[in-house]
Amino acid sequence: MTTSVALGAPTVGQEELDAIREVFESGWLSGAGPSCLAFEREFAAVVGVDNVLSTSNCGSALHLAQLALGVKPGDEVIVGDYTFPATGHSVLWSGATPVFVDVRPDTWSIDTALIEAAITPRTVGIIAVDPFGQPADYDEINAIARKHGLWVIEDAACATGATYKGRPVGSLADMTAYSFHGRKGITSGEGGALASADAERIAHARKLHTYGIAPAISREGAADLPVPSFDELGYNYRLSDVQAAIMRVQLKRLPDLLAARDRIAASYAAHLGDLEEVQLPTALADRTHPWQSYVVTVAPELDRGSVAMALRAAGVGCNFGTYASHLQPLYGPQPDLPVSADIFARHIAIPMHANLTEDDVAFVADHLRKIVTDPAHRR
Ligand SMILES: *Cc1c(COP(=O)(O)O)cnc(C)c1O
Repeated sequence: MTTSVALGAPTVGQEELDAIREVFESGWLSGAGPSCLAFEREFAAVVGVDNVLSTSNCGSALHLAQLALGVKPGDEVIVGDYTFPATGHSVLWSGATPVFVDVRPDTWSIDTALIEAAITPRTVGIIAVDPFGQPADYDEINAIARKHGLWVIEDAACATGATYKGRPVGSLADMTAYSFHGRKGITSGEGGALASADAERIAHARKLHTYGIAPAISREGAADLPVPSFDELGYNYRLSDVQAAIMRVQLKRLPDLLAARDRIAASYAAHLGDLEEVQLPTALADRTHPWQSYVVTVAPELDRGSVAMALRAAGVGCNFGTYASHLQPLYGPQPDLPVSADIFARHIAIPMHANLTEDDVAFVADHLRKIVTDPAHRR
C-alpha cells in the first residue's frame, strides 16, 4: 500500500551504469569527446534539426545561444515571465536587459498579444519558455519576430520530446535550449543541449563552450602538432562524456517515459476533473505536453501554503510551481504582470514522474481532494 509519493524521481538503472562503465574503460571522461559527439547525433534525430551541441546545463545553452546570435550590452531581450530564472539570468550574463512579458492564464507561456507593446528600438530577440514542457505559441511568436527583425530562442528546458503542430521541439525557433537536470524528463543529473538548423551558429557556440578554441578531439590524429590560439572569450560549458553516456541511454528510454507521464496526467484528470477547488493544467490539442511537472491551481479562497504543508504531512510530495521572474529582487523594479504573479501565488506541483503507479496517483488524488475541501485550509 502506498504511504508516501515523491514529487519527482529520475528513471535510471543498470543500462546507465553499464554505459558509465564503458566510458570509464574508454578513458575519455572529460567533455566534447566521442560520447558527446554520439549523443549529439542521436539527439539531432529527436529534435528535428541537424546541429546539436551538448552543454553543461540549460542556462549555459541559453547563454551560448545569445552569444551566437550576437547579443551585446545595451540590447533588450523579451522573456516569458513565468519560468525558472535561468532564462532571465542568461540575458544578464550576455550583458543585455531582460524585458519580462506576462503569460497566458491557461498555458502560462508568453502572451503573444502583449509582445509587440514590449518591443523597443533596442529589442533584439524573444526567449519563449515552454512552461513545464508544453510548447508556447510558436506560429504567432515567429510571425511577430519576422515582422520586427528579431530572433527567437526557445527555452525548452522541460520540453525534450514535445511537439507543436506535428513538428518537434527543436525545429520551432532559431535556437532551442534543453535541460537534463535531475528534475527534467530525461536526465544525466546535470546537463543540457543547444539545437539549431543553423550550422554556423552551433559551430560558434561549440567554440565558445570550450573556452574559445576548437575541442581537443578535433586535433586527434593530426600529422603535425596543432597549437590552438585564443582569439575570443569562451567558457567551460561542456557536458562530460560520462554524462553524455547516461544521456544516450536516457534518449532510448524517452518514448516510454513520455508515454508513462501522459498516462499519469490522464489518470489525474480522471480522478480530479470534478474538483472545484483546484483547476487542472490545460493541455492544448495541437501540441504534445511532456508533463515535466503536473501543476494545479488552487482556488483563490484557499491558503496555498497550508494546503501544501498538509499534503506533505500526508506523504504527498509537492512544491510551488515555478517563478514569476518580475517579482525576483535581482531584476530590480518591474511593471506589474498580474497573470504571472497570480499563478506564482496559487500553483502547486503534485507528484509527476514515470515511476508512479496507479495506486500512487489514487493516493495523491484522495489526499488532495480531502485537503482542499477541508475548511481548515481556507484563507
Ligand atoms: C530547469 C529550467 C532551466 C534551468 O536548467 P539548468 O539545466 O538547471 O540550467 C531553465 N529554464 C527552465 C524553464 C527550466 O525549467
